[in-house]
Amino acid sequence: MADEGIGGVFGPDWSATGGVVRSICDSLHLPHLEMHWAPSHLHDYHPFTINLYPEPKLLAKALVAVIEDMDWTSFTLIYENTDSLVRMQELLKAHDSQLISEDRVPFTVWQLGEGPDYRPLLKEIQMTSETRIVLDCSVDKILAVLHQAKQVKLMGEYHSYILTSLDAHTLDLGELKSGGTNITMLSLIDRNKYTVQSAIYDLNNPARSSIELDNKKLNLSATTIKTGSALIYDAVQLYSKAVSEMVGDSVRVAPLPCHTPGYYWKHGYSIVSRMKRSTIEGMTGKVELDEKGRRSFFTIVITELSENGQRKIGSWDPLSGITYTRTKSQMDREIYQSISNKTFIVTSRLGKPYLWTKGDNYSGNDRFEGYSIDLIDEISKDLGFKYKFVLVSDGQYGTYNKKTKQWNGLIRELRERRADLAICDLTITYDRRSAVDFTMPFMTLGISILYSKPVKTSPGLFSFLSPLSLDVWMYMATAFLGVSLVLYIGCRISPYEWENPHPCNLDSDHLECVFSLHNCLWFSIGSLTGAGCDLLPKTISTRLLAGVWWFFALIMVSSYTANLAAFLTMERMEDTIENVEDLAKQNKIKYGVLLGGSSLDFFRDSNVSTYQKMWSVMESTRPTVFVKNNDEGVERVLKGKRAYAFFMESTSIEYQVEKHCELTQVGGLLDSKGYGIAMPFNSPYRTAISGSVLKMQESGKLHELKNKWWKEKSGKTCESSKHVPLATNELGMSNVGGVFLVLIIGCTLAFLVAILEFLWQVRKVAVQEKVKHRNFSKKLKQAYTL
Ligand code: ASP
Repeated sequence: MADEGIGGVFGPDWSATGGVVRSICDSLHLPHLEMHWAPSHLHDYHPFTINLYPEPKLLAKALVAVIEDMDWTSFTLIYENTDSLVRMQELLKAHDSQLISEDRVPFTVWQLGEGPDYRPLLKEIQMTSETRIVLDCSVDKILAVLHQAKQVKLMGEYHSYILTSLDAHTLDLGELKSGGTNITMLSLIDRNKYTVQSAIYDLNNPARSSIELDNKKLNLSATTIKTGSALIYDAVQLYSKAVSEMVGDSVRVAPLPCHTPGYYWKHGYSIVSRMKRSTIEGMTGKVELDEKGRRSFFTIVITELSENGQRKIGSWDPLSGITYTRTKSQMDREIYQSISNKTFIVTSRLGKPYLWTKGDNYSGNDRFEGYSIDLIDEISKDLGFKYKFVLVSDGQYGTYNKKTKQWNGLIRELRERRADLAICDLTITYDRRSAVDFTMPFMTLGISILYSKPVKTSPGLFSFLSPLSLDVWMYMATAFLGVSLVLYIGCRISPYEWENPHPCNLDSDHLECVFSLHNCLWFSIGSLTGAGCDLLPKTISTRLLAGVWWFFALIMVSSYTANLAAFLTMERMEDTIENVEDLAKQNKIKYGVLLGGSSLDFFRDSNVSTYQKMWSVMESTRPTVFVKNNDEGVERVLKGKRAYAFFMESTSIEYQVEKHCELTQVGGLLDSKGYGIAMPFNSPYRTAISGSVLKMQESGKLHELKNKWWKEKSGKTCESSKHVPLATNELGMSNVGGVFLVLIIGCTLAFLVAILEFLWQVRKVAVQEKVKHRNFSKKLKQAYTL
């Protein structure tokens, strides 16, 4: 063709021959316009080639943005061949670092296979419970894949697909919209906006050119136009615009002998550089190229197929990212509309006061009553949906088995899409949250201890000892002995305690001290009991000691009396545990927890040493302390004669305490959490149901419901224990320690004063008898032997 003379080459779209065409165009300086995807690594720079297909890295960026915007933390990618894997590598790279947990990876990748039966693969994907799927395959396979996905139940209400093919908009997906699956498509053609312009330019005879650039809206249906055709159209537009700008240069094609080197088309270079510089508004939106001829600006139109049909919801371009045409309130309105036609399958488990059966005479939802059914009923009235209650077959809440990698209970029902909602006393935990979605918590609570109330005991024979603790009694006895001893020594030292036993005989040298050891003991005990004593100290030191001792006795006796009065009027209760530490410290009272619940997980996974210790005690205790349901736990506490305590959630404890007056909650809450309504991942109804729960919380409806089932329906009011005086505690050293301190200081002072008195007397005798210094020590010895 070049031999005859050509002005440019459009295509080919088969990339294998592209390389040959590119190098021929390079050497002949012929403008070469491509319109197909080419991986970046094949995109060596060819100065005369431009490609109108979106630059691969930018296109991948658009896909990443859409996925991120849709909050897809994990997804499954189904790809067709190596090319599509290359296309998707940017997406995989973007999600590679977001490893969520060992069990939850950000994406899984599956190859579609030869077909035409894709069901085995789709079935396998269905088993993984993944609901978000990115399908990257050629447009002619999409319908077959989606129809087969529907057959294997991979096109349910909670499934979402992204079709990466830019031609997906040409497919008739009408049949698939009834399943409620959300299908998102990306396209370059905005069906509401494209225009077709016509331009004719005769390169052989420029005078005959007619360029009609006025916009003519042609009556073409966008769904029939493939991206490739639209790109050819835009390529021609771009080319014609560049040539039309060069009319003055009288552009003509020239025969270019292909096999003779050195020949090239002289206008080629300027046409190509004009094309790279110019911008047009084509069928695929605004076309802008970079200096290497790659399409650096394009607009991806995001369309969504839902039950309401196919609709543009937004667009992406490299400058402004995602822009939504649908507002948040529009989206909410659509969800509210779709919710009102639905009948939700609500799964639950039996357990008072949340749900229990009324009897065999009822059918349908009437079989049940309880808090859960009332709560769902209120929400359904608010949002206008219907519901059907179904009991979970294994009666479990939902725990993850690491070995089988399977959930059980309510969580499994949701994951396998057998139910739309799960409601009961289902605690929101991190693990469960990674498997299902939860609404706002409708109740907040924590783990606490359910235990029997202490029973009254008759006062013991030695209950008079109770007002003071054993420590205080021991210290008092020691103080009594100590003071007696100090008094005895003080009297020996102090000279003024020595008196003539025969006052009539003034000449007698014989002196006596009345405070013998046993008199000292008598004096101390007499003072302590308030009985008094006929012997009284006379010197400053001993009086000081006696004063302090009397003061001590005063305080101790009045404290004892005051506390004794309280002890006598109070009903004695059995010793009881006051908190979880008390429970952990002892081994008389066994304690346990519900099997397969979040409370068990709390102890098993706790890092707090007390709870760790309690967990290992629980695990090793035989017979087992674990129970299958809360009722069994309550039964065990009731029958256990205060030998068994049960860890239960505070809300359930409140209910049991209202029902069984002999039970009580011990201590505070060990943690803080909430119950929520669970639903399958990505449920579109989460916001609506959460909103309804919030409304009920604000209007006080939740509180009202709780009162109804906890207080009114329990039909029993336990006698308030208000009139029973609280157990009085014995006085400990912390209460009376100060008096002991005063006593010790007093004793020490008395002892020091006694020594001073002694020295004073020695000095007096020495002065009287004019004793010389050297004889002083002799005199001292003499005085001491007195
Ligand atoms: N409400 C808890 C759960 O959801 C049961 C419990 O451990 O008490 O697992």
